[in-house]
Amino acid sequence: MTDLVVSGGTVVTATGSSRADVAVDGGRITAVGEGVGQGAHERIDATGMLVLPGAVDVHTHTRLPSPDQPDRFFADSVAAAFGGTTTFLSFNNPGTGISDEGSQSLLAGMREFRARTEGESAVDFGLSAVITGQQADPIAELPELIASGVPTAKAFMVYDFRLSDERLLAALRVMGRHGGMLQVHCESATVIDSLVADALAAGNVSCRHHALTRPAYAEAEATHRAIALARAADASVYLVHLSCADALAEVAAAKARGWPVYAETCPPYLALTDTRYAAEDEAEVIRSVISPPLRSEADRQALWLGLRAGGLDLVASDHVPDRLAVEKAIPAPPFPQISNGAPGIETLLSLVHGLGPAAGRMTLERMVDVLSRTPARLFGLTNKGSVEVGRDADLVLFDPDASRTLRQTGLHHSSDFTPYEGFSMRGAVQSVLLRGQAVVRDGTFLGRRGAGQFVERVLD
Ligand code: MN
Ligand code: MN
Repeated sequence: MTDLVVSGGTVVTATGSSRADVAVDGGRITAVGEGVGQGAHERIDATGMLVLPGAVDVHTHTRLPSPDQPDRFFADSVAAAFGGTTTFLSFNNPGTGISDEGSQSLLAGMREFRARTEGESAVDFGLSAVITGQQADPIAELPELIASGVPTAKAFMVYDFRLSDERLLAALRVMGRHGGMLQVHCESATVIDSLVADALAAGNVSCRHHALTRPAYAEAEATHRAIALARAADASVYLVHLSCADALAEVAAAKARGWPVYAETCPPYLALTDTRYAAEDEAEVIRSVISPPLRSEADRQALWLGLRAGGLDLVASDHVPDRLAVEKAIPAPPFPQISNGAPGIETLLSLVHGLGPAAGRMTLERMVDVLSRTPARLFGLTNKGSVEVGRDADLVLFDPDASRTLRQTGLHHSSDFTPYEGFSMRGAVQSVLLRGQAVVRDGTFLGRRGAGQFVERVLD
């Protein structure tokens, strides 16, 4: 007997769309087609709705519960659900995995993450580790990390916790040999550190100098170098938050040669431009202080073309649940001390749909590819990312004709602002199912803290 049938909707996959019913049993999709699931215990009418796979957001910095915000991991997982995201990957937080001796360990960080998120999430989630130059010997810990269901990790080419090129090459090599994939934040430390020093020497400390000291060519140069190091390591490489046309050209050239190079972009770079930094009010500018910074309109257009044509593989949120008065610390500190990042776990699907298919920039099928199928495939979430038999019934009923204005007051994340305040988007999430269970219906949370499971991953 079938548990559930979602009937009458238009099922969208990465390869096509059709009117179809979706039968669900034991949390898995058991049939897709007209008239399947007759006699199911429960029927959800999806007439007029798109039936999408839940978005898979592979780049978030959700924070662990803390004394001043005990609900923040849970809140961001609820926000994900409201936004149509049914699986997210989180990076472990700065400062996790510190031993009694004060050194940091990747494996201890993973254990701490798992312990402190146990029973907290409303949707499924996983961990991607962060490798820094401050950990004792993170590269030695990678094989065990990968074998523990965490086969991806992020390394930085910039910031004081960056890896040197030598260490980056070593990390790429170990990941490649042990079935992992390294995610790299590409910005040139040499260029940026020099420009920052010049700005500070000239007394230029305001927010907008954050962006002025992180030019697109510094990202493109580091992107080129990361790709070269991956070749030397005979490994794949995944480039996080690609933001500009020049870096995209490096990726496109690598892909044209058949190299295993993958790249994501993020909604800020698809929705916003550097005109945000021209605002008089520092409290406005600081909302858009992210790394890499917002780029030009020409860059924004190039990213949409890249997303459509395949130079970019997927979109992830790079969610950072900063609060204006706390982490962002307005009135603003000197720009090198500003917390980089902006919230976005709840607005990912809304923005990509509203600016993508609803604006004629990509097809619905490509949207499903870049938000669900490809992130699930690249990150080893084999049960996720597609409305097809055998996958988890993580389903979003999406009304493509509704309109929605994004406002902080209507969001559920643990941040206290959205960079997209007042953005009017066509399309709205109506209902969300996680493994066949209702999490959101008509704007009401029906899920449960702890219903989300930690997903141990294995890459293809
Ligand atoms: Mn980053
Ligand atoms: Mn990030």
